Amino acid sequence: MPTVDELTRVLRGSSLRVTGPRLAVLEAVHAHPHADTDTVLRAARASLGAVSHQAVYDVLRTLTDAGLVRRIEPAGSVARYETRTSDNHHHVVCRGCGAIADVDCAVGHSPCLTASDDSGFVIDEAEVVYWGRCPACAAA
Ligand SMILES: [Zn+2]
Ligand SMILES: [Zn+2]
Repeated sequence: MPTVDELTRVLRGSSLRVTGPRLAVLEAVHAHPHADTDTVLRAARASLGAVSHQAVYDVLRTLTDAGLVRRIEPAGSVARYETRTSDNHHHVVCRGCGAIADVDCAVGHSPCLTASDDSGFVIDEAEVVYWGRCPACAAA
């Protein structure tokens, strides 16, 4: 887990003002990869005390816009957030319970950006979602 000093540097590095809610939300997303907004809100409240849903939502958007947080939204799922950004990794999602895990690109660096036919588009992101059942759901 990054320290408050490290998180402060991360915010400053993106020219963001350092505020309590921003630190708390960034820390919460670090601690709970692929957390939904409610989970981030609970974690932020645990460290900050009273903070509104809207404030957390605004911070998540600011951090996402700054590239510090990545927002993913698998079909049928609410938005999830993670601090592992800019490596274009993929996700595997459980059809049973909605659990999400990271999947690295299989070959080299962001190979999935190399479309077999790009139709002339300049491609900067690929979204790959693997669907299946997590070990717990598969065992049940
Ligand atoms: Zn599951
Ligand atoms: Zn991820």
